[in-house]
Amino acid sequence: MNDTRDLTKRLAELLHREQGALADFLVALADFDRERRWVELGYTSLFYFLHRELGLSKGAAFYRKTAAELIQRYPEVVEPLREGKLCITSVVELAKVITPENRGEVLPRFFHASKREAKAVAAELRPAEAAPHRDVITVLRQAATAKAVTRVEMATRPAMPGAVVQPDEPSGQVAASPPCPPPSAPLPAVKPDEIEPLTGDLRRFHTTVSKRFLAKLAAARDALSHSHPGADTEAVLEAALDLLLAAKDKKKGLVENPRPSPARPSASPRHIPAEVKRAVWARDGKCCRWPLASGGVCGSTTRLELDHVVPLARGGTSTVSNLRVLCDFHNQLAAKQVFGEPWMSQFTSRSRSPPG
Ligand SMILES: [Zn+2]
Repeated sequence: MNDTRDLTKRLAELLHREQGALADFLVALADFDRERRWVELGYTSLFYFLHRELGLSKGAAFYRKTAAELIQRYPEVVEPLREGKLCITSVVELAKVITPENRGEVLPRFFHASKREAKAVAAELRPAEAAPHRDVITVLRQAATAKAVTRVEMATRPAMPGAVVQPDEPSGQVAASPPCPPPSAPLPAVKPDEIEPLTGDLRRFHTTVSKRFLAKLAAARDALSHSHPGADTEAVLEAALDLLLAAKDKKKGLVENPRPSPARPSASPRHIPAEVKRAVWARDGKCCRWPLASGGVCGSTTRLELDHVVPLARGGTSTVSNLRVLCDFHNQLAAKQVFGEPWMSQFTSRSRSPPG
């Protein structure tokens, strides 16, 4: 019995230390984030710093990022975390509903709450009219056919705005070659789609759409009735996505049968010949090549642009060796490093592009 008492005491001590260490970590992280130190290391967000530099899983990184941001606005969150009254998984729910007006009253409601209980408290505190009401349209797959199940959730009211961004979980899809490291640009605040693996290849895909979207989908199905008779939702959407991606590739000069370059190339230094664009996109693998302080590259696959390593304004040229693929965040950062913040602000304030 004495042994058990001693062991219990020891466990309680260790738990207390763990809670204290987590609180200390989050306070230090909040300071790190306040000064945006992650930018110096090449990351596009605190989330990617935690995930890639510190090696936390995306879920763990997301909880800590949310807590560090919350601490900056509501420092009173620290002590309940240290005392173990507030669980880090509840912080995500708390962040959705706490305001400067309700902080004193709302915070204690999350003490000692499980993740599910915290969700319930947050749901209760949200205005009722913001809760989405959904009709569910389900097209079921026959077991014998290899057609994917398509479930469309039709929102009759808009979903709750301003929800905390969830981490982008790996989709399990195979990346196109050449391989890119994990993407590093944070996604804008959109509700994530739910993707549920069914078989090795099939996924059930749940997303919330508007009536306007469904009307367009019906119109697209009609428009494809000659070329794709009897097309299901997946076939219609895939045809649309193929068109969109082909248009994007064309803009990047990535076409399967490129036309020969014109006999008289453009005299403008801003002009990037199609074969140069193709070579740069192919070399850089359609992802941001900004180097990280810890090694590797940013790897973001969103909002990509071609960037002149030596800017045109400094005598750089539009050649393969002087061009690289960067995400929007790192393109802006590169320009700031060359031209300085005050000079760059004239472009950001007037929504004009800085010189490449
Ligand atoms: Zn980047």
